[in-house]
Amino acid sequence: MEYPGNLFVVAAPSGTGKSSLVSALLELDAKLDVSISHTTRAPRGQEQHGREYWFISRDEFKAKVDHGDFFEWAEVHGNLYGTSRAAIEARMAKGDDVVLEIDYQGALQIKELFPYAVLIFILPPSWEELMQRLNRRGDTAPDVIAERMANAREEVAQAKDFDFIVINADFDKAVFDLKSIVHAQRLKYAAQRRNRSAVFKALDLP
Ligand code: 5GP
Repeated sequence: MEYPGNLFVVAAPSGTGKSSLVSALLELDAKLDVSISHTTRAPRGQEQHGREYWFISRDEFKAKVDHGDFFEWAEVHGNLYGTSRAAIEARMAKGDDVVLEIDYQGALQIKELFPYAVLIFILPPSWEELMQRLNRRGDTAPDVIAERMANAREEVAQAKDFDFIVINADFDKAVFDLKSIVHAQRLKYAAQRRNRSAVFKALDLP
């Protein structure tokens, strides 16, 4: 499948700072939009239906799977998450750039469907630092932290299949790295030809 817009997929283990990094990136770049996923997990804290996620029941989720509404879906920490076609197809067809903040299983499914998707994996600087960050969150029980650490080891092992690696040791540096990846992608021949077609035409470039 091919659309004119760029597709960026960001994956990372829980506690790596993925959401904060993607939020910072979106604030800096008005041409980027994040896709809102569907999930069967319950809202946390201030989360709102249609803002962080579309919160739906397992039955509703399964009906959407059967209906072919998702580009990808996966079970993560016991809940179902999916990227709906409706969330990104129209925007990418218009030429807008979209960011998916999803888990590695979803990222690899997206790469199969959209080989030109740019897969970015965010790593913590060390296991110790990841453990400290999970502990600092304060709202997570020790057994949940142990489970997240075990999952993180499995997730990090998938980083080798991603196009870019960002190590979140220093937040500002990691945001800069993300911005650089987005910028470089937009400078690729195919992306420039799409966005600067008048220049390409004037220079007789195919
Ligand atoms: P959380 O419940 O903490 O918001 O998210 C748990 C994990 O599910 C995170 O790694 C998040 O990126 C991932 N996730 C969120 N939306 C999707 C989605 O649409 N598809 C997939 N495969 N993973 C998702």
